[in-house]
Amino acid sequence: MRKKIVAGNWKMNKTFSEAEDLVFGIADELASDRPEDVEVVICPPALYLEMTSDVATENNFSCGAQNISEHEAGAYTGEISAAMIASAGASYVIAGHSERRSFYGETDALIARKVKQALKHGLIPIYCCGEVLEQRERNLHFEVVGQQITEALSGLTAEEFSNVVIAYEPVWAIGTGQTASPQQAQEMHAYIREMAGKIFGKEAAAETTILYGGSCNASNARELFANPDVDGGLIGGASLKAGDFVKIINSF
Ligand code: PEP
Repeated sequence: MRKKIVAGNWKMNKTFSEAEDLVFGIADELASDRPEDVEVVICPPALYLEMTSDVATENNFSCGAQNISEHEAGAYTGEISAAMIASAGASYVIAGHSERRSFYGETDALIARKVKQALKHGLIPIYCCGEVLEQRERNLHFEVVGQQITEALSGLTAEEFSNVVIAYEPVWAIGTGQTASPQQAQEMHAYIREMAGKIFGKEAAAETTILYGGSCNASNARELFANPDVDGGLIGGASLKAGDFVKIINSF
């Protein structure tokens, strides 16, 4: 069944004690107010995965990493493997975030390998796609996202794809305060589902969770989540305050 998910991407924020305060704060807020059918995922910096996953297990939420190596193991200084992420208790991993694409040159060919590695070790990849402003202004956004999906995901089997979550994150909306309108989000999510249907079949596409990300906050989440093809959100800035993040979760 298609899952509703709200995932928080903390990016490179918080010291250890601040991260503990935030994760316990989220757990406390969730204890008093929470929709039953929404899966909550926290993606802290990798150093805090074990601490976060311990709190997550006790409080019925999940934990994910923000990045993953495309390699299995070995001489890759500074990298973190899928097996390591899984052994720290995480069950999700973000793959292909636009910051990884733009600052670290990640291509869809590389991201495809990361997605495969995640799946091999039982992690659920949250595959991020989305156009930059110039591409939207030139009306290329469907083409760009379609190509990203094809390049990164079409090498998967239908069974592998059934364990992938997609996040549509228009790059012009990330961290800018300029959210996609509910209509812009819905039309792209419907297009992504159609694309997935062409590759993996309609049934598989209907079951796929597609998240929206990009300046989603406690004030606009309800309108975005009300769309039939928007199954939740990948939240950056607004996931750094427990109260705001839990308000977003309760926007369903
Ligand atoms: C993100 O980085 O995935 C994101 C959606 O960030 P923000 O919510 O801050 O726009």
